[in-house]
Amino acid sequence: MATDKEHLNPFEIAQRQLDEAAKVLELDPALHELLRWPIRELHVTLPVKMDDGTTRIFHGFRVQYNDARGPTKGGIRYHPAETIDTVRALAAWMTWKCAVVDIPLGGAKGGVICNPKELSVGELERLSRAYIRQVGRIIGLEKDVPAPDVYTTPQIMAWMADEYSFLKGYNEFGVITGKPLALGGSAGRGDATARGGIYCLREAAKVLGLDLRGATTAIQGYGNAGSFAHKLGTELLGLKVVAVSDSRGGIYSPTGLEYAQVMAHKEETGSVIGFPGTRPVSNEELLELDITVLVPSALENVIIEANAGRIRAKLSAELANGPTTPEADKILHANGVYVIPDFLCNAGGVTVSYFEMVQNAYDYYWDEEMVHARLDKKMTAAFHAVHAAAQTHNVHNRLAAYLVAVNRVAQAVRLRGWA
Ligand code: GLU
Repeated sequence: MATDKEHLNPFEIAQRQLDEAAKVLELDPALHELLRWPIRELHVTLPVKMDDGTTRIFHGFRVQYNDARGPTKGGIRYHPAETIDTVRALAAWMTWKCAVVDIPLGGAKGGVICNPKELSVGELERLSRAYIRQVGRIIGLEKDVPAPDVYTTPQIMAWMADEYSFLKGYNEFGVITGKPLALGGSAGRGDATARGGIYCLREAAKVLGLDLRGATTAIQGYGNAGSFAHKLGTELLGLKVVAVSDSRGGIYSPTGLEYAQVMAHKEETGSVIGFPGTRPVSNEELLELDITVLVPSALENVIIEANAGRIRAKLSAELANGPTTPEADKILHANGVYVIPDFLCNAGGVTVSYFEMVQNAYDYYWDEEMVHARLDKKMTAAFHAVHAAAQTHNVHNRLAAYLVAVNRVAQAVRLRGWA
Protein backbone atom coordinates (compact mmCIF):
# COMPACT_ATOMS: atom_id res chain seq x y z
CA MET A 1 0.00 0.00 0.00
CA ALA A 2 3.01 2.32 0.31
CA THR A 3 3.32 5.08 -2.25
CA ASP A 4 6.77 5.54 -3.75
CA LYS A 5 7.52 8.62 -1.75
CA GLU A 6 5.94 7.74 1.57
CA HIS A 7 8.26 5.93 3.98
CA LEU A 8 6.44 3.50 6.22
CA ASN A 9 9.19 2.28 8.56
CA PRO A 10 7.42 2.72 11.93
CA PHE A 11 10.58 3.67 13.82
CA GLU A 12 11.50 6.35 11.27
CA ILE A 13 7.94 7.65 11.61
CA ALA A 14 8.24 7.72 15.42
CA GLN A 15 11.52 9.63 15.13
CA ARG A 16 10.04 12.14 12.67
CA GLN A 17 7.07 12.74 14.97
CA LEU A 18 9.47 13.41 17.85
CA ASP A 19 11.60 15.72 15.66
CA GLU A 20 8.58 17.88 14.99
CA ALA A 21 7.80 18.17 18.70
CA ALA A 22 11.46 18.86 19.53
CA LYS A 23 11.39 21.82 17.14
CA VAL A 24 8.32 23.39 18.77
CA LEU A 25 9.69 22.72 22.27
CA GLU A 26 13.15 24.01 21.24
CA LEU A 27 14.74 20.97 22.89
CA ASP A 28 18.43 21.04 23.57
CA PRO A 29 20.13 19.04 20.72
CA ALA A 30 21.67 16.42 23.05
CA LEU A 31 18.38 15.88 24.86
CA HIS A 32 16.59 15.58 21.52
CA GLU A 33 19.14 13.04 20.26
CA LEU A 34 18.82 11.00 23.47
CA LEU A 35 15.04 10.80 23.02
CA ARG A 36 15.40 9.62 19.40
CA TRP A 37 16.88 6.24 20.41
CA PRO A 38 16.14 3.31 22.72
CA ILE A 39 18.25 3.31 25.87
CA ARG A 40 18.83 -0.43 25.43
CA GLU A 41 17.54 -3.43 23.50
CA LEU A 42 17.95 -7.19 23.65
CA HIS A 43 17.68 -9.58 20.68
CA VAL A 44 16.92 -13.17 21.64
CA THR A 45 16.95 -16.50 19.81
CA LEU A 46 14.55 -19.10 21.15
CA PRO A 47 14.73 -22.84 20.53
CA VAL A 48 11.26 -24.35 21.02
CA LYS A 49 10.30 -28.05 20.98
CA MET A 50 7.38 -28.49 18.60
CA ASP A 51 4.64 -31.10 18.99
CA ASP A 52 6.07 -33.20 16.13
CA GLY A 53 9.37 -33.66 17.99
CA THR A 54 11.37 -31.16 15.93
CA THR A 55 12.95 -28.00 17.35
CA ARG A 56 12.15 -24.63 15.79
CA ILE A 57 14.16 -21.48 16.27
CA PHE A 58 12.25 -18.24 16.88
CA HIS A 59 13.58 -14.70 17.08
CA GLY A 60 12.40 -12.08 19.54
CA PHE A 61 13.20 -8.66 20.99
CA ARG A 62 12.76 -6.51 24.07
CA VAL A 63 13.35 -2.80 23.61
CA GLN A 64 13.59 -0.48 26.63
CA TYR A 65 13.17 2.96 25.17
CA ASN A 66 13.44 5.43 28.02
CA ASP A 67 13.28 5.00 31.80
CA ALA A 68 13.76 8.61 32.95
CA ARG A 69 10.29 8.68 34.58
CA GLY A 70 10.35 5.16 36.07
CA PRO A 71 10.63 1.46 35.20
CA THR A 72 9.84 0.80 31.55
CA LYS A 73 6.45 -0.63 30.60
CA GLY A 74 4.92 -2.12 27.48
CA GLY A 75 3.37 -5.16 25.90
CA ILE A 76 4.74 -8.17 24.05
CA ARG A 77 3.45 -8.73 20.54
CA TYR A 78 3.41 -12.06 18.70
CA HIS A 79 3.22 -11.42 14.97
CA PRO A 80 4.64 -12.99 11.79
CA ALA A 81 5.54 -9.53 10.42
CA GLU A 82 7.25 -8.31 13.62
CA THR A 83 10.52 -6.41 13.08
CA ILE A 84 12.99 -4.73 15.40
CA ASP A 85 11.97 -1.33 14.01
CA THR A 86 8.30 -2.01 14.74
CA VAL A 87 9.21 -2.90 18.32
CA ARG A 88 11.41 0.23 18.61
CA ALA A 89 8.54 2.42 17.41
CA LEU A 90 6.08 0.76 19.77
CA ALA A 91 8.54 1.22 22.66
CA ALA A 92 8.92 4.92 21.82
CA TRP A 93 5.14 5.31 21.70
CA MET A 94 4.86 3.57 25.10
CA THR A 95 7.24 6.20 26.52
CA TRP A 96 5.01 9.03 25.27
CA LYS A 97 1.87 7.11 26.29
CA CYS A 98 2.90 6.70 29.94
CA ALA A 99 3.95 10.35 30.04
CA VAL A 100 0.75 11.70 28.50
CA VAL A 101 -1.41 9.98 31.15
CA ASP A 102 1.17 10.96 33.75
CA ILE A 103 1.92 7.57 35.26
CA PRO A 104 5.42 7.10 36.76
CA LEU A 105 6.72 4.70 34.11
CA GLY A 106 8.96 4.72 31.06
CA GLY A 107 8.35 2.91 27.77
CA ALA A 108 9.30 -0.51 26.41
CA LYS A 109 7.99 -3.14 24.03
CA GLY A 110 8.65 -6.77 23.20
CA GLY A 111 7.99 -8.95 20.23
CA VAL A 112 8.43 -12.45 18.86
CA ILE A 113 8.32 -13.22 15.14
CA CYS A 114 5.77 -16.03 14.98
CA ASN A 115 2.26 -16.83 13.82
CA PRO A 116 0.38 -17.80 16.99
CA LYS A 117 -2.57 -19.01 14.87
CA GLU A 118 -0.35 -21.84 13.62
CA LEU A 119 0.95 -22.90 17.05
CA SER A 120 -0.68 -25.43 19.36
CA VAL A 121 -1.41 -24.43 22.97
CA GLY A 122 1.61 -26.44 24.13
CA GLU A 123 3.91 -24.81 21.56
CA LEU A 124 2.64 -21.36 22.54
CA GLU A 125 3.35 -22.10 26.20
CA ARG A 126 6.89 -23.38 25.49
CA LEU A 127 7.60 -20.34 23.27
CA SER A 128 6.35 -17.94 25.97
CA ARG A 129 8.46 -19.60 28.66
CA ALA A 130 11.52 -19.60 26.37
CA TYR A 131 11.06 -15.86 25.80
CA ILE A 132 11.02 -15.18 29.55
CA ARG A 133 14.09 -17.36 30.14
CA GLN A 134 15.96 -15.01 27.78
CA VAL A 135 14.50 -11.59 28.65
CA GLY A 136 14.19 -12.51 32.37
CA ARG A 137 17.61 -10.97 32.98
CA ILE A 138 16.50 -7.46 31.95
CA ILE A 139 12.89 -7.32 33.20
CA GLY A 140 11.69 -6.94 36.80
CA LEU A 141 9.47 -4.92 39.12
CA GLU A 142 11.93 -2.06 39.34
CA LYS A 143 13.25 -2.40 35.78
CA ASP A 144 10.73 -3.30 33.09
CA VAL A 145 7.21 -4.72 33.32
CA PRO A 146 5.72 -6.42 30.21
CA ALA A 147 2.02 -6.91 29.36
CA PRO A 148 -0.17 -8.20 26.50
CA ASP A 149 -0.32 -6.69 23.02
CA VAL A 150 -1.43 -7.98 19.60
CA TYR A 151 -2.02 -11.79 19.76
CA THR A 152 -0.90 -12.21 23.37
CA THR A 153 -3.40 -13.01 26.13
CA PRO A 154 -3.88 -13.20 29.93
CA GLN A 155 -3.05 -16.94 29.71
CA ILE A 156 0.28 -16.11 28.07
CA MET A 157 0.94 -13.53 30.83
CA ALA A 158 0.22 -16.27 33.41
CA TRP A 159 2.80 -18.64 31.88
CA MET A 160 5.31 -15.80 31.75
CA ALA A 161 4.69 -14.79 35.39
CA ASP A 162 5.09 -18.44 36.37
CA GLU A 163 8.35 -18.88 34.44
CA TYR A 164 9.77 -15.66 35.90
CA SER A 165 8.81 -16.79 39.40
CA PHE A 166 10.78 -20.01 38.86
CA LEU A 167 13.80 -18.00 37.69
CA LYS A 168 13.64 -15.90 40.86
CA GLY A 169 12.84 -18.74 43.23
CA TYR A 170 9.70 -17.06 44.62
CA ASN A 171 6.39 -15.74 43.29
CA GLU A 172 6.76 -12.35 41.66
CA PHE A 173 3.56 -11.93 39.69
CA GLY A 174 3.93 -8.13 39.60
CA VAL A 175 6.66 -8.52 36.96
CA ILE A 176 3.96 -8.64 34.32
CA THR A 177 0.48 -7.12 33.95
CA GLY A 178 -2.67 -8.14 32.11
CA LYS A 179 -2.68 -11.33 34.17
CA PRO A 180 -5.82 -13.39 34.85
CA LEU A 181 -7.69 -12.25 38.00
CA ALA A 182 -6.79 -15.45 39.85
CA LEU A 183 -3.06 -14.63 39.54
CA GLY A 184 -3.06 -11.01 40.66
CA GLY A 185 -4.69 -9.41 37.63
CA SER A 186 -6.71 -6.21 38.04
CA ALA A 187 -10.45 -5.87 37.73
CA GLY A 188 -11.20 -3.83 34.62
CA ARG A 189 -7.92 -4.62 32.77
CA GLY A 190 -9.71 -6.66 30.07
CA ASP A 191 -11.63 -3.80 28.47
CA ALA A 192 -9.38 -0.97 29.69
CA THR A 193 -7.85 0.00 26.32
CA ALA A 194 -11.26 0.43 24.67
CA ARG A 195 -12.80 2.03 27.77
CA GLY A 196 -10.07 4.68 27.91
CA GLY A 197 -10.67 5.45 24.23
CA ILE A 198 -14.43 5.72 24.80
CA TYR A 199 -13.83 8.19 27.65
CA CYS A 200 -11.68 10.26 25.23
CA LEU A 201 -14.43 10.15 22.60
CA ARG A 202 -16.93 11.35 25.19
CA GLU A 203 -14.70 14.31 26.04
CA ALA A 204 -14.02 15.05 22.36
CA ALA A 205 -17.77 15.18 21.69
CA LYS A 206 -18.09 17.71 24.52
CA VAL A 207 -15.42 20.07 23.17
CA LEU A 208 -16.73 19.72 19.62
CA GLY A 209 -20.35 20.16 20.69
CA LEU A 210 -21.32 16.88 19.02
CA ASP A 211 -24.05 14.50 20.11
CA LEU A 212 -22.72 10.99 19.59
CA ARG A 213 -26.01 9.17 20.30
CA GLY A 214 -26.75 7.18 17.15
CA ALA A 215 -23.51 8.37 15.48
CA THR A 216 -22.52 5.94 12.75
CA THR A 217 -19.26 4.19 13.60
CA ALA A 218 -16.83 1.85 11.85
CA ILE A 219 -14.28 -0.23 13.76
CA GLN A 220 -11.25 -1.71 12.01
CA GLY A 221 -9.92 -4.70 13.97
CA TYR A 222 -11.87 -6.98 16.29
CA GLY A 223 -9.25 -8.05 18.82
CA ASN A 224 -9.28 -6.90 22.44
CA ALA A 225 -9.44 -3.17 21.63
CA GLY A 226 -11.83 -3.24 18.67
CA SER A 227 -14.36 -5.71 20.05
CA PHE A 228 -14.61 -3.93 23.42
CA ALA A 229 -14.91 -0.61 21.56
CA HIS A 230 -18.01 -2.06 19.88
CA LYS A 231 -19.45 -3.14 23.23
CA LEU A 232 -18.61 -0.01 25.25
CA GLY A 233 -19.21 2.46 22.42
CA THR A 234 -22.77 1.17 22.22
CA GLU A 235 -23.32 0.85 25.98
CA LEU A 236 -21.69 4.08 27.19
CA LEU A 237 -22.13 6.49 24.28
CA GLY A 238 -25.01 5.03 22.25
CA LEU A 239 -22.89 4.83 19.07
CA LYS A 240 -24.42 3.01 16.13
CA VAL A 241 -21.73 0.63 14.91
CA VAL A 242 -22.40 -0.03 11.21
CA ALA A 243 -19.15 -1.73 10.19
CA VAL A 244 -16.50 -3.90 11.83
CA SER A 245 -13.61 -5.96 10.45
CA ASP A 246 -10.83 -8.35 11.37
CA SER A 247 -7.74 -9.61 9.54
CA ARG A 248 -9.94 -11.58 7.11
CA GLY A 249 -12.27 -8.73 6.06
CA GLY A 250 -15.23 -6.69 7.22
CA ILE A 251 -19.01 -6.45 7.36
CA TYR A 252 -21.37 -3.51 6.89
CA SER A 253 -24.99 -2.99 7.87
CA PRO A 254 -26.65 0.45 7.67
CA THR A 255 -29.09 -0.55 10.41
CA GLY A 256 -26.29 -1.30 12.89
CA LEU A 257 -24.50 -4.34 14.28
CA GLU A 258 -25.17 -5.83 17.69
CA TYR A 259 -22.04 -6.58 19.69
CA ALA A 260 -23.20 -9.80 21.36
CA GLN A 261 -24.33 -11.32 18.06
CA VAL A 262 -21.20 -10.36 16.11
CA MET A 263 -18.96 -11.63 18.92
CA ALA A 264 -20.85 -14.94 19.07
CA HIS A 265 -20.42 -15.29 15.28
CA LYS A 266 -16.68 -14.56 15.54
CA GLU A 267 -16.26 -17.06 18.36
CA GLU A 268 -18.08 -19.71 16.35
CA THR A 269 -16.50 -19.14 12.93
CA GLY A 270 -13.19 -17.44 13.75
CA SER A 271 -14.12 -14.21 11.92
CA VAL A 272 -16.73 -11.46 11.73
CA ILE A 273 -17.09 -12.09 7.97
CA GLY A 274 -20.23 -13.81 6.78
CA PHE A 275 -22.36 -12.39 9.61
CA PRO A 276 -25.98 -12.74 8.42
CA GLY A 277 -27.75 -9.68 6.99
CA THR A 278 -24.55 -7.73 6.22
CA ARG A 279 -22.64 -6.92 3.08
CA PRO A 280 -18.89 -7.54 2.93
CA VAL A 281 -16.45 -4.62 2.99
CA SER A 282 -12.68 -4.80 2.75
CA ASN A 283 -10.49 -3.35 5.47
CA GLU A 284 -9.57 -0.50 3.08
CA GLU A 285 -13.20 0.29 2.17
CA LEU A 286 -14.22 0.33 5.82
CA LEU A 287 -11.91 3.30 6.49
CA GLU A 288 -13.56 5.35 3.75
CA LEU A 289 -17.21 4.75 4.65
CA ASP A 290 -19.53 7.73 5.09
CA ILE A 291 -19.64 7.60 8.89
CA THR A 292 -19.18 9.95 11.86
CA VAL A 293 -16.70 7.98 13.99
CA LEU A 294 -13.82 5.84 12.79
CA VAL A 295 -12.02 3.57 15.26
CA PRO A 296 -8.80 2.10 13.81
CA SER A 297 -8.07 -0.77 16.21
CA ALA A 298 -5.77 -3.07 14.26
CA LEU A 299 -2.22 -2.39 13.10
CA GLU A 300 0.02 0.51 12.07
CA ASN A 301 0.10 2.40 8.73
CA VAL A 302 -3.50 1.94 7.59
CA ILE A 303 -4.31 5.64 7.08
CA ILE A 304 -1.59 6.83 4.71
CA GLU A 305 -1.02 9.61 2.22
CA ALA A 306 -2.80 7.64 -0.52
CA ASN A 307 -6.16 7.21 1.26
CA ALA A 308 -6.26 9.98 3.90
CA GLY A 309 -8.07 12.35 1.56
CA ARG A 310 -10.92 9.87 1.25
CA ILE A 311 -11.60 9.56 5.02
CA ARG A 312 -15.08 10.96 5.61
CA ALA A 313 -15.40 10.45 9.38
CA LYS A 314 -15.56 13.54 11.61
CA LEU A 315 -13.63 11.84 14.38
CA SER A 316 -10.93 9.18 14.36
CA ALA A 317 -10.36 7.49 17.72
CA GLU A 318 -7.12 5.55 17.34
CA LEU A 319 -7.06 2.43 19.48
CA ALA A 320 -4.32 0.89 17.33
CA ASN A 321 -0.72 1.98 17.74
CA GLY A 322 0.58 4.01 14.78
CA PRO A 323 -2.41 3.66 12.40
CA THR A 324 -1.82 7.08 10.76
CA THR A 325 1.33 8.29 8.99
CA PRO A 326 2.67 11.87 9.33
CA GLU A 327 1.63 12.69 5.72
CA ALA A 328 -1.87 11.39 6.41
CA ASP A 329 -2.02 13.42 9.63
CA LYS A 330 -1.53 16.63 7.67
CA ILE A 331 -4.30 15.71 5.24
CA LEU A 332 -6.75 14.75 8.00
CA HIS A 333 -6.00 17.98 9.85
CA ALA A 334 -6.50 20.09 6.71
CA ASN A 335 -9.81 18.29 6.08
CA GLY A 336 -11.05 18.92 9.61
CA VAL A 337 -11.03 15.31 10.82
CA TYR A 338 -10.64 15.40 14.62
CA VAL A 339 -8.04 12.75 15.50
CA ILE A 340 -7.69 11.39 19.03
CA PRO A 341 -4.10 10.20 18.61
CA ASP A 342 -3.06 6.65 19.43
CA PHE A 343 -0.87 7.07 22.47
CA LEU A 344 -3.56 9.19 24.13
CA CYS A 345 -6.61 7.27 22.90
CA ASN A 346 -5.28 3.78 23.72
CA ALA A 347 -3.54 4.67 27.00
CA GLY A 348 -6.33 3.07 29.06
CA GLY A 349 -4.62 -0.33 28.81
CA VAL A 350 -1.34 0.73 30.32
CA THR A 351 -3.11 2.94 32.86
CA VAL A 352 -4.94 -0.06 34.30
CA SER A 353 -1.70 -2.05 33.98
CA TYR A 354 -0.15 0.57 36.26
CA PHE A 355 -3.11 0.13 38.65
CA GLU A 356 -2.39 -3.61 38.52
CA MET A 357 1.26 -2.97 39.50
CA VAL A 358 0.11 -0.80 42.42
CA GLN A 359 -2.36 -3.44 43.61
CA ASN A 360 0.28 -6.18 43.30
CA ALA A 361 2.73 -4.10 45.34
CA TYR A 362 0.17 -3.58 48.12
CA ASP A 363 -1.33 -7.04 47.70
CA TYR A 364 -4.73 -5.39 48.12
CA TYR A 365 -7.27 -5.36 45.32
CA TRP A 366 -9.78 -2.77 44.11
CA ASP A 367 -13.26 -3.39 42.74
CA GLU A 368 -14.19 -2.60 39.16
CA GLU A 369 -15.98 0.58 40.15
CA MET A 370 -12.79 1.99 41.67
CA VAL A 371 -10.74 1.03 38.59
CA HIS A 372 -13.26 2.67 36.23
CA ALA A 373 -13.40 5.87 38.28
CA ARG A 374 -9.61 6.19 38.49
CA LEU A 375 -9.20 5.38 34.79
CA ASP A 376 -11.80 7.99 33.88
CA LYS A 377 -9.97 10.63 35.88
CA LYS A 378 -6.63 9.85 34.22
CA MET A 379 -8.01 9.72 30.67
CA THR A 380 -10.12 12.86 31.05
CA ALA A 381 -7.18 14.86 32.43
CA ALA A 382 -4.89 13.61 29.64
CA PHE A 383 -7.46 14.38 26.94
CA HIS A 384 -7.90 17.96 28.14
CA ALA A 385 -4.14 18.54 28.52
CA VAL A 386 -3.70 17.52 24.88
CA HIS A 387 -6.72 19.48 23.67
CA ALA A 388 -5.44 22.60 25.46
CA ALA A 389 -1.94 22.19 23.94
CA ALA A 390 -3.50 21.89 20.47
CA GLN A 391 -5.33 25.19 21.02
CA THR A 392 -2.34 27.01 22.54
CA HIS A 393 0.13 25.99 19.83
CA ASN A 394 -2.42 25.80 17.01
CA VAL A 395 -1.27 22.31 15.99
CA HIS A 396 -3.00 19.00 15.30
CA ASN A 397 -3.77 16.71 18.21
CA ARG A 398 -0.94 14.25 17.61
CA LEU A 399 1.68 16.97 17.74
CA ALA A 400 -0.10 18.41 20.80
CA ALA A 401 0.08 15.00 22.52
CA TYR A 402 3.80 14.86 21.72
CA LEU A 403 4.29 18.33 23.17
CA VAL A 404 2.67 17.31 26.47
CA ALA A 405 4.43 13.93 26.70
CA VAL A 406 7.91 14.87 25.47
CA ASN A 407 7.96 17.87 27.75
CA ARG A 408 7.33 15.62 30.77
CA VAL A 409 10.02 13.11 29.77
CA ALA A 410 12.47 15.93 28.98
CA GLN A 411 11.88 17.43 32.39
CA ALA A 412 12.75 14.11 34.08
CA VAL A 413 15.86 13.72 31.90
CA ARG A 414 17.06 17.23 32.81
CA LEU A 415 16.36 16.76 36.52
CA ARG A 416 18.37 13.53 36.49
CA GLY A 417 21.25 15.39 34.86
CA TRP A 418 21.40 13.18 31.73
CA ALA A 419 21.28 16.02 29.22
N1 GLU B 1 0.11 -3.26 24.78
C1 GLU B 1 -0.66 -2.20 25.36
C2 GLU B 1 -0.32 -0.87 24.74
O1 GLU B 1 0.15 -0.79 23.61
C3 GLU B 1 -0.60 -2.20 26.89
C4 GLU B 1 0.76 -2.08 27.48
C5 GLU B 1 0.79 -2.31 29.00
O2 GLU B 1 -0.26 -2.54 29.59
O3 GLU B 1 1.89 -2.27 29.54
O4 GLU B 1 -0.56 0.16 25.30
